[in-house]
Amino acid sequence: MTTKIFIDGTFYEKSEAKISVYDHGLLYGDGIYEGLRCYSGYVFQMKEHLNRLKRSANSLRMKLPYSVEEIGEYILETLKINKLQNAYIRLLVTRGVGNIGPDPKTCKNTSLIIIVEDLPNVHGQSVKEIGLSLVIASTRRDAVDATSHEIKSLNYLNSVVARMEANEYGADDAILLDPRGFISESTICNVFMIDNDKLITPSASNGILQGVTRKIIIEIARELSMDVEQRDITPFQLINANEVFLTGTHAEVVGVTRINNIEISNGKIGEITRKFIHKFQERTLDSTFSTPVYKNFNKDK
Ligand code: PMP
Repeated sequence: MTTKIFIDGTFYEKSEAKISVYDHGLLYGDGIYEGLRCYSGYVFQMKEHLNRLKRSANSLRMKLPYSVEEIGEYILETLKINKLQNAYIRLLVTRGVGNIGPDPKTCKNTSLIIIVEDLPNVHGQSVKEIGLSLVIASTRRDAVDATSHEIKSLNYLNSVVARMEANEYGADDAILLDPRGFISESTICNVFMIDNDKLITPSASNGILQGVTRKIIIEIARELSMDVEQRDITPFQLINANEVFLTGTHAEVVGVTRINNIEISNGKIGEITRKFIHKFQERTLDSTFSTPVYKNFNKDK
């Protein structure tokens, strides 16, 4: 079966799914996106993702082409038409077709694109066992008063350049520092460290994406009665942490065992990280956090 892609109310075969070269999403990166995941026929944290989409749109004065509820329905429809139960869902809203110049006033209608794919494991199974090797990139995250990563926009050049640096060094991914030199996030994940049984993560106020997975990890930590600190982290503190892990919808929770080729603790995925991996997996399979794609869908079938 070929993949069917949703564009503005119509489903297209993958080879036919195209947008105009005058779409400002392409010309200027003027657009926003969300990445969601469907586990066993249930879309995980759909409302959280759609609310974030709305916040991204709002900050760019972008009118969504449909209501959040309608977009939710289209996500479910796209999964159904593609007969998928375990999937990665990519949702894009572009500014739409306009003149060659960057002024969004020339764009009449925003466009909604939904791509769903059978889910490959982002980092591969072996990385889940061995842990990631990261480098701290020389490229900095944008400042909070620039187009920061709080907006989940189509402009990921900052991450792309950092990822290329990681590739150059043979690492799995890169961590970016904020303009002051503190840890911000990886190219597509939020960063956590464990120090003396405390969970520490960069504050949501330093221009990072406020990850849906990040929020869940903080909730799980509170359930486990762990202290949680959201604060500045220096590269020195991260490298010398007891444990480090990354979180994201696509990557889930993944341990970090090397930074700049220096082993984190004993170079193995830590006990507390494993606990978070396990607790997070439990949540992804708990239907109270999800929206069913198929009515009367029986998870055990
Ligand atoms: N930071 C960045 C830059 C990202 O692209 C992502 C992935 N969406 C994340 C963090 C993790 O966010 P979430 O847990 O919502 O997927």
